[in-house]
Amino acid sequence: MKKLERILSRIDGKSYKAYKDLQGQTFHFEDFDMIFSYIQGDPFASPSMISVKIPSGNARFPRESFEGKVRNRATADHINRTMDRMIGRSRKGKKGSGKSGMIVIDTCGQEILQKSSVVINGDFVEARLYVGLPAFGRKIAGKKAWEMLFRDIPAIVEQGLKFSNYNAKDFWKHVHSVEDQAFMRESLSSRGLVAFIADGSILPRISGVNQRPLCSSEAVAFRSPPSLCIEMETPNVGTVSGMGIPEGITLIAGGGYHGKSTLLRALERGVYDHIPGDGRERVVSLPKAVKIRAEDGRRVEGVNISPFINNLPLGKDTVHFCSDEASGSTSQAANIMEAVEIGSDLLLLDEDTSATNFMIRDTRMQRLVAKEREPITPFVDKVRQLYNEKGISTVIVMGGSGDYFDVADNIIMMDDFLPLDVTCEARKIASENLTGRSKEGGGSFGEITPRVPLPESIDPEKGRKVKIKARGNENIQFGYESIKLGYVEQIVHDSQTRAIGDIIYYALRNKIIDEKNTLSEIVWKLEDVLDNYGIDEISPFGNNPVGNHARPRPFEIAAAINRLRTLEVEQKV
Ligand code: ADP
Ligand code: MG
Repeated sequence: MKKLERILSRIDGKSYKAYKDLQGQTFHFEDFDMIFSYIQGDPFASPSMISVKIPSGNARFPRESFEGKVRNRATADHINRTMDRMIGRSRKGKKGSGKSGMIVIDTCGQEILQKSSVVINGDFVEARLYVGLPAFGRKIAGKKAWEMLFRDIPAIVEQGLKFSNYNAKDFWKHVHSVEDQAFMRESLSSRGLVAFIADGSILPRISGVNQRPLCSSEAVAFRSPPSLCIEMETPNVGTVSGMGIPEGITLIAGGGYHGKSTLLRALERGVYDHIPGDGRERVVSLPKAVKIRAEDGRRVEGVNISPFINNLPLGKDTVHFCSDEASGSTSQAANIMEAVEIGSDLLLLDEDTSATNFMIRDTRMQRLVAKEREPITPFVDKVRQLYNEKGISTVIVMGGSGDYFDVADNIIMMDDFLPLDVTCEARKIASENLTGRSKEGGGSFGEITPRVPLPESIDPEKGRKVKIKARGNENIQFGYESIKLGYVEQIVHDSQTRAIGDIIYYALRNKIIDEKNTLSEIVWKLEDVLDNYGIDEISPFGNNPVGNHARPRPFEIAAAINRLRTLEVEQKV
């Protein structure tokens, strides 16, 4: 502390660059360490990163709260949220020009992700803060810096990093809830299920941009139809009852505005754990569930979409399909083939975001436009083969066509926001009202062709410098390119997007993208890296970690690589 005080008084009033003296230094405070990992170049630049690291003996979080991967993630997340709240409360306002005086920790949304903002283990708890070191103009404001480093940050450490200042009941509720969710998700496949939605869940959100739950007076709580009602064991709250969606093909029908899309969106996010009170904290789906949508305008590189699309005009190749601007149907076909290539076992589709001509082709249209004149084999003729041959289940929201009655194993109707099991009724209707369609799916699903990305087509440099930057959660600047992820709907946090950019760079540096590995091998190798070495491993600054990464799934990493406009691949045959 004394040394830091001396440095501050020495550099007070000097040019901002003098702060750089602090970079890489560690200072011992009474019961924690303050580490200056990164120092900004001027008061307007990206903020500095300061880690506060407190020995376990002083933090006193119970050992059982951070041992094991699931509990560790839950506890780190709870600390992250608590610190964020603490900082918000103690904010003393600006302390000069630019970002002077700013103190933040990475924010948290409704999902509980593995993040780099907080590290907890048997030795210490570390929180990574982003701060604006104070200046007036471009001159160091020593007194303001002193207040920040010797008063504000120690107060945040005291409140946020010591278990004695936590409400133990809320803390354990959080940890136990995450553990229960992970457990339920884990048990889905052994029970032949693809998803589970507990009775009492609140699925609707405040709005598309606000993921908090609709207030309980306005929301209809979920209730399973008796025929699909099952009980799930949990480690902490005993059995939970709710709707189990079995493997196979599930159709969600129902009138407009009756809650179909809302249910599907909950399943999309069911790959993640949610905070208690979210309303979806007992909604879980298979970890490899992938939302599929039409995405016209996206780039597609060397994907074999021939199971769905053939005989394009002008003889365009669909076994090695490339397009700088795919259509609705071809982009949706590519999205499916790419998800399957990476190993998805559950596809989630909503008519609202699907291409109509990809989903259905009815009798009248089959008569008017002969099969030879229609490049698209509609999903309705392929969805069964996907399950029978590849074991890939599908949940489809479809209120606009009953043609799916013939291929669905289970048919759920949303009625006034509540699900009814209408499988028998719909079957009866289907047998009394034959569609007259001829099946166009052929004898089998078709080939899934692995692709090998070529490293020289993935260039993170702009000029001669590596330039990778996330803009919100929808965009990554990657070298000269901009990767658009707005339609990759299972990215739920900016810090995931940021991590994806840096992970691609990591894969290049470490020759995981090496001209031999397929895209699937690449993203699953990266999954192993994250599992075995933790999220700090992918820091672009080597041994210097960052505090704003959140872990993405292999599917979303692949989605970003697939959307890079310079990407070139070789198909592996
Ligand atoms: P659909 O896809 O069937 O047309 P949506 O899922 O888009 O319907 O839902 C329509 C509206 O109803 C949305 O504004 C949504 O937030 C709201 N909503 C959905 N589920 C519920 C519910 N369980 N309780 C109250 N409102 C709901
Ligand atoms: Mg809808």
